[in-house]
Amino acid sequence: MGFVFNAPSVSSVAIHGIEDRFAVRRIFCVGRNYAAHAREMGRDPDREPPFYFMKPSDAVMDNGADVPYPPQTSNLHYEGELVVAIGKKCIDTNIDDALDYVYGYAVGNDLTRRDLQLDAREKGRPWDTGKGFDHSAPCAEIHTVDQVGHIENARIWLTVNGETKQDSNVNKLIWSIPEVVTNLSTLFTLMPGDLIYTGTPEGVGPVVKGDVIRVGVDGLTDLETKIV
Ligand code: MN
Repeated sequence: MGFVFNAPSVSSVAIHGIEDRFAVRRIFCVGRNYAAHAREMGRDPDREPPFYFMKPSDAVMDNGADVPYPPQTSNLHYEGELVVAIGKKCIDTNIDDALDYVYGYAVGNDLTRRDLQLDAREKGRPWDTGKGFDHSAPCAEIHTVDQVGHIENARIWLTVNGETKQDSNVNKLIWSIPEVVTNLSTLFTLMPGDLIYTGTPEGVGPVVKGDVIRVGVDGLTDLETKIV
């Protein structure tokens, strides 16, 4: 059997110290998962149930790649995030076992057309145009759990042109990584290749053409993205 058009190429992320790459299946993102960010977005962070949105797998962008300023926005925002890479099929897991399904961790940037996202939010519409656009998911190389263990207490920071904009710690996640994996596994069959962008701390803001965004999580490779 053939295809009427060429099958799409497989999106993938580099893996630290390993030649093979991580084929990306789906990109899940957690909304408002740091209290101070929920407040800056005008919401009460008192552990509303976790909620999710998705990006297409081909939105993923390699470390160092130039990202074109996207169309239909005048308010492109960065969101520095810890990314969880799933390595095993996972259905209805529990808090104690959830981390067994994690293959590794990476640093990501959940690029957001904030104007479109907030307009959709006000109208009760989906966030796809604000979140799931082309090139919207830069991701640095994955570090495996064998290499770095589990990332539970680590500084997360973001700079634009060298100026610090976000500076927090992943131990401030409202919904921890085991809780997010457990909850997502009740909603979806998680599969190897799935990425989870776990949410951004406070300090989100706009970028313009020419800006260089750098995101770091202690213990992982920094992610650098230039907006062109
Ligand atoms: Mn985000």
